[in-house]
Amino acid sequence: MWRFNDEQQMLRDTVQQLAREELAPRAAELDSAHAFPSDWFAAWGELGLFGMTVPEELGGAGLGDLAAVLAVEELARGCAASASVLATHLFQVVPAVVRFGSEDLQAELLENLATGAAIGAVAWSEKQAGCDLAALESRAVSDGDGWKLEGAKTSVAGAGVAQHLLVAAHTSSERRLESVGLFVVDCDGSGVSVDGSPVSLGLRAAGAATVTFRGATVEGSRRLGEASAIHAPIPALRASTDLGAAALALGIAQASLDQAIDYAKTRKTFNVPIAEHQAISFKIANMATDVRAARALVYETASSLETVGGHDGAAASAKLFATEAAERCAFEALQIFGGYGYSQEYPVERLYRDARMGTLNDGTSEMQRIAIAASTLGA
Ligand SMILES: Cc1cc2nc3c(=O)[nH]c(=O)nc-3n(C[C@H](O)[C@H](O)[C@H](O)COP(=O)(O)OP(=O)(O)OC[C@H]3O[C@@H](n4cnc5c(N)ncnc54)[C@H](O)[C@@H]3O)c2cc1C
Repeated sequence: MWRFNDEQQMLRDTVQQLAREELAPRAAELDSAHAFPSDWFAAWGELGLFGMTVPEELGGAGLGDLAAVLAVEELARGCAASASVLATHLFQVVPAVVRFGSEDLQAELLENLATGAAIGAVAWSEKQAGCDLAALESRAVSDGDGWKLEGAKTSVAGAGVAQHLLVAAHTSSERRLESVGLFVVDCDGSGVSVDGSPVSLGLRAAGAATVTFRGATVEGSRRLGEASAIHAPIPALRASTDLGAAALALGIAQASLDQAIDYAKTRKTFNVPIAEHQAISFKIANMATDVRAARALVYETASSLETVGGHDGAAASAKLFATEAAERCAFEALQIFGGYGYSQEYPVERLYRDARMGTLNDGTSEMQRIAIAASTLGA
């Protein structure tokens, strides 16, 4: 059992209760309506959830990666779609500004990002460029002190509710990942349009949108990396991105196990609860083992990221394992529910759809294995 400090334990208990009482009862309705629950933001802001990864000296709560993992995991148990928006904000947008923004940019953005008055989303992928971000067609052209952005982004989770986008675009004619720049762009800026997205299999309440830039003006200070002389911030954000995705998957895996246990103890066949059939109890045993292993890997990665900056491949392994564990758990939970699992009458149908995204987004399983192999083999 992981030992939390008092602050982490209190946070975990509070968010767990919030997810159980507020999120879980509305998750199905929001999924059906493809509606992001913006009305939850005020409560999340009051709990300080948006500022957990903003350091105290920059106006945040400075609770660290493990606390942020606990919050995302617990929220995902109730509603993975809305938790995914918080995960992006905490593990991609905030770290990008904290690590690569100039002091002025940090002063301009972090106060609102820490309270939730502003939400951040990530606009990297394009139709022809997901895993291979060097193939992006978006361009940022230098325009005196600033930049002009041209391009179109697909599947931007949270864009429908965010104020800031972390946008990836080439700054030169080179087609290398190292030449992809990151820019903070306001969603309501001129030349930026945020439109609906094609219906996705899962995470339907995540406020996904397509975003188009037509000569969008971006101030020079809003290019990330220049102040820290790091011109390839995307690879530098990899471990944090992996951790957020892993925390989300862990919450989905735990929710699948919770559902399966409850159902297996109450549903009877052949005069006994189905949990008494060994075939079912062994599925539960496998799921519990997956959840424990994923949790150990995710918490260990979070702790090592906050204390020693992590180590190569660990976050990639945590993301790979947790997302594949979530798929296995959601699959088995649906199987335990039998035919009812296939209907929208029970949450396992949604968990099954939501879990399927984990191995596709934020580093597909194939790309995670490539990264882990390279770091393990020293390539
Ligand atoms: C629900 C959801 C939310 C998303 N949210 C966001 C978001 O908020 N912001 C954003 O920018 N993007 C987002 N995306 C996009 C997501 O990041 C991309 O879908 C993902 O990076 C994969 O890119 P792709 O779909 O273009 O697949 P491709 O890159 O075309 O890959 C297709 C297949 O080939 C495999 N493959 C590719 N290259 C290799 C290789 N070298 N070796 C072995 N196999 C390989 C992949 O693993 C995959 O199986 C989201 C996607 C989904 C589904």
